[in-house]
Amino acid sequence: MDPIEPLGALPVFFKLHDREVFLAGDGGGTLWKAELLCAAGARVKLFSTSPHAEAIAAAARLPSVKLEARRWRDHDLDGVALAILDAGDTEEARSFVAAARKRGMPVNVVDRPEFCDFAFGVIVNRSPLLLAISTGGAAPVFGQALRARLEALLPRALAAWASAAQQWRQRLAPLGLDFRQRRTFWEQFSDLALRAGERAPSEADFAALAEAERLTTAPSRGRVTLVGAGPGDPDLLTLKAVRALQSADVILYDALIAPQALEMARREAQRIDVGKRAGTASPGQSEITAEMIALARQGKRVVRLKGGDPGVFGRASQEVAAAHAAGVEIEIIPGVTAAFAAAAELQLSLTDRDLAPRLQFVTLHDRDGETPELCWPALVDANATTAIYMGARKWRPFAERLIAEGLDPATPAVYMENIGRPDSRRIAAPLHELADALAGQAGAGPALILYGSAFSAREEKA
Ligand code: SAH
Repeated sequence: MDPIEPLGALPVFFKLHDREVFLAGDGGGTLWKAELLCAAGARVKLFSTSPHAEAIAAAARLPSVKLEARRWRDHDLDGVALAILDAGDTEEARSFVAAARKRGMPVNVVDRPEFCDFAFGVIVNRSPLLLAISTGGAAPVFGQALRARLEALLPRALAAWASAAQQWRQRLAPLGLDFRQRRTFWEQFSDLALRAGERAPSEADFAALAEAERLTTAPSRGRVTLVGAGPGDPDLLTLKAVRALQSADVILYDALIAPQALEMARREAQRIDVGKRAGTASPGQSEITAEMIALARQGKRVVRLKGGDPGVFGRASQEVAAAHAAGVEIEIIPGVTAAFAAAAELQLSLTDRDLAPRLQFVTLHDRDGETPELCWPALVDANATTAIYMGARKWRPFAERLIAEGLDPATPAVYMENIGRPDSRRIAAPLHELADALAGQAGAGPALILYGSAFSAREEKA
């Protein structure tokens, strides 16, 4: 086993239920500490030389806070579990620490780390599940930023799952399960709790998890999740996508996936590049699907990570059908499709009551790379917003045909490459000029072309 890396402090969870805590100070921070201690079940002896109205009100509201309007004395520390000072000068801090040490209790002097035996962590509260973060006093704001991120990641309902775990542990005892079965129970419990999102656990969950047959045969937990990764900016991953990445055993990812998105995954997850780039040899769709199913059948939690949204030119239906045919559980997590990210970058809306009451996503590539049958009357409607996926290379003949079919050559159009990435680029021009404007300009990144009256408002700015 690897040795444990040095720790700045030992994180412990200190039970305070019904124990007395000494707290002295006059500030707003003192009150907040009093609330925190009460939430942990402590009885708080609060000393304040000049309690202001808020402190008096708080003491009245919190029955386990006993406010004494005087300076603390040494013997006030007798018998308390912890001692916290939130006031005073260095001299007061020194005599406070000396008095507490004599009684063998750990102390905290707020904002004076040199006097502290213990520090308060930044908390993510899903009690009985608790996370506490410390930056060792280096950067409390950084700790709070981390908290915000974890708060977003951990569903509130985890509290209900953690308290169900407490109760279910007791109900499991009389069932006489052996070690392996108990382990299976808790593995499947954890899996379910992390997947259930905002849903609280139910009696039916317990019944299903504790089913004897299921525990003995330990059915495969393998399954597939099709995850939309958005256009490339990792901040545009959904919380659900991040959760799926964090519980994946294997990730099959496409060429357009940003490395930062993969970094969100569990460290141990195996990452397999199944990227298909125009013109390079890479696994075919049926091989990818077969691999995905085979891995799930081995019991792996497989994430199939796709650019944008899996349901927009992402072959989601094919993969769902294959999973159903193989009896493998499958779920889809939507993502931000390229056209939506384009609209955000252009700061306009794709639909408009007057200019664009219709929005259409069109590809110029069918399964074999050919141009599919297209519905020209719909495509030449300038009062629709049209987003062309996988069409930059075929743009010139396509635009010529649009004009021949009757679309106004002056219709505004915009080419957008690498949307949502630091190297994003765009070229705007009236429809009949865009092909020339793109000559020698189009890069190797993924590109979308949009046209329609909705873009007129932005034309000159783009
Ligand atoms: N499922 C994806 C689309 C896959 S098809 C989605 O919902 O966005 C691949 C095509 O999508 C590319 O050829 C390009 O036209 C478009 N595309 C995907 N990501 C893009 C990006 N970051 N910038 C511009 N176009 C993008």
